[in-house]
Amino acid sequence: MNPLSTTDHDRDSAALRYIYPVVSRRAGGVSVGINLNPNNACNWRCIYCQVPNLTRGTAPAIDLSVLEKELRGFLAELLHGDFMQTRVPEGARRINDIALSGNGEPTSAAEFTRVIELIARVRREIALRPDSGQALPEAMKTVLITNGSLLHRSEVQRGLRDMARLNGEVWFKLDRASAAGMQLVNDTKTSIDKVRDNLIAAIACCPTWLQTCWFALDGAPPSRQDEDDYLEFVSGLLSDGHKPQGVLLYTLARPSLQAEAPRLSKLPAEHLKTFADRIAKLGLPVKVSS
Ligand code: SF4
Repeated sequence: MNPLSTTDHDRDSAALRYIYPVVSRRAGGVSVGINLNPNNACNWRCIYCQVPNLTRGTAPAIDLSVLEKELRGFLAELLHGDFMQTRVPEGARRINDIALSGNGEPTSAAEFTRVIELIARVRREIALRPDSGQALPEAMKTVLITNGSLLHRSEVQRGLRDMARLNGEVWFKLDRASAAGMQLVNDTKTSIDKVRDNLIAAIACCPTWLQTCWFALDGAPPSRQDEDDYLEFVSGLLSDGHKPQGVLLYTLARPSLQAEAPRLSKLPAEHLKTFADRIAKLGLPVKVSS
């Protein structure tokens, strides 16, 4: 088999329905991805989205017994099989996290909270049976990559509180901080007030990072107004006592699979750094990947 590269996020690379491995360039190790949207359905349509045949919608019913079997089996393979040696480049042979991500919005799954309970159970049981030398790293995180749009739901918030007990981290999408910007980039009519409310809820439930994709559209980087809107939004949060862990600022890593793809391009590292420096002045850590 070919080794996985840091740009290989093929959901089928482990030939499973829900579980897929990713070598994360951001985290420097293997992330065990859980895709709750094998139907490629999301309630947003970000113009940089890399999901093939993306459709509007929600996650299908999740077969929890299949998911549990796949998660147990894949973690056992990572710990005791030859997957790390044969598929993962040297230097990235460690398990970083279990990440709820995939081909749509994970919190749209009706079973979201039960999925978190399932992860907790599997982690606990594997930790209790370190039967052949290797065990799960204690620091292994449970990460939720979300557009945040459904975090007003009480059952999703319950899932986030459970995640917090599993070294949880929420990566909350904030690409633009104006209604017009979100309409343009995320193709959603969500209001900034709703984003703010949902973000405050996320921060109250679980350590939360902002994840921000910054790229050029028709050759033009985000405007000074886009930057100012973003900084004003974040500084308003901070002055009201709602502090995210920091900002994950990145540019396009792989080509968009949306119709706008030919209009999008990566931003140079210096451009990201200049914006990162402005964010950092607010007192938030910024991790940049370009
Ligand atoms: S929120 Fe994520 S999955 Fe949904 S359209 Fe945007 S990038 Fe794609």
